[in-house]
Amino acid sequence: MGEKRIIYMDHSATTYVRKEVVAAMIPYFSEHFGNPSSIYGIARESKRAVDAARVQVAKALNADPEEIYFTSGGSESDNWALKGVAWANRKRGNHIITTQIEHHALLHSCQFLEKEGFAVTYLPVDKYGLVDPAMLEAAITDKTILVSIMYANNEIGTIEPIAELGAIARAHKVYFHTDAVQAIGNVPIDVKAQNIDMLSLSAHKFYGPKGAGALYIKKGVRIENLIHGGGQERKRRAGTENLAGIVGMGKAIELATADITGHNAKIRAMRDRLIKTVLAEIPHTRLNGHTEKRLSGNFNVSFEFIEGESMLLWLDDEGICASTGSACTSGSLEPSHVLLATGLPVEVSHGSLRLTLGDVNTEQDVDTVLAVLPKVGLRLREMSPLYQKERAGKEGGCNV
Ligand SMILES: *Cc1c(COP(=O)(O)O)cnc(C)c1O
Repeated sequence: MGEKRIIYMDHSATTYVRKEVVAAMIPYFSEHFGNPSSIYGIARESKRAVDAARVQVAKALNADPEEIYFTSGGSESDNWALKGVAWANRKRGNHIITTQIEHHALLHSCQFLEKEGFAVTYLPVDKYGLVDPAMLEAAITDKTILVSIMYANNEIGTIEPIAELGAIARAHKVYFHTDAVQAIGNVPIDVKAQNIDMLSLSAHKFYGPKGAGALYIKKGVRIENLIHGGGQERKRRAGTENLAGIVGMGKAIELATADITGHNAKIRAMRDRLIKTVLAEIPHTRLNGHTEKRLSGNFNVSFEFIEGESMLLWLDDEGICASTGSACTSGSLEPSHVLLATGLPVEVSHGSLRLTLGDVNTEQDVDTVLAVLPKVGLRLREMSPLYQKERAGKEGGCNV
């Protein structure tokens, strides 16, 4: 009984952990298990390992090691940047600017702050998911304390003009945070050259372990703590360090940023073949996101008259792991806020599929997906009540 090969094309959801990363982590579970805050020998080795990882993360961003704070991941880093800056700068102003296409860790933090009396501007994006720098400039008031704009979008892969946006915030003396969770390892980052004051990252998006992340905080930024307790992370983020996770993240970021150009060239070629063939073979299909300003592994496509969820089930049957932007579950319509922000109609957003390639993928994987996807797409469309209703001139909708 041969195991069917799993084709993993969901790298924006999470990645496997590289074997070099696992190897670097192993000693820190049992051999070197000391609490980095203790003073005996085995603890000193733990402390040394945490410091070394801090240097690795800092180097990848062109930051100083003292500007790196370890957290539990992207969600905590986003929560900390938003709430921490809001709380610490309340006297200066209550206005925050972000975008309509941020990750929920960011958007839900903003909604929480709105309940506390902060005012949030959610900048729109164009049909490619790009933020207009002139709109950012126009939105800044003398009450604005923070601008938070993601580096690269997790659904459609659009890469924002971060250096330019950061320069605008800086010119107005407003802090600039970016959620770079999807960008690490895919786009070269330089927090100094790109005018970034705070940056969130998460290890499990760049072949590191889950539950390990970091927030870069530029020296001098006024920010309140989010997690209170012991004096870890220079008294700014309490809790015994996730030692093995931090060591793994350090190794993972070093590997992920060693050859960004080579990594991109390899997966972009495969991704482009997917885009070209799928768009050519399935009619009523559109590419979501920008053609060039996009993450090299990201393919997000909308098929009219097909439900993304049905597509996922068929693909899963063939061992293909993908994701969809919208969930049509429990009888409620939950279209992707990102796709809607790009102007996609609700019914079309339900037919979206995201394939995100990474370093496990091969040309053979692409062949398999291309042998399956157009067939499944065309068959589902024939079966789709939406398609039949459309043909009958009626309105479509979620039919759960
Ligand atoms: C995955 C992701 C997060 C959340 O990171 P976790 O480490 O899973 O909490 C935040 N922002 C973006 C853009 C992401 O893709």
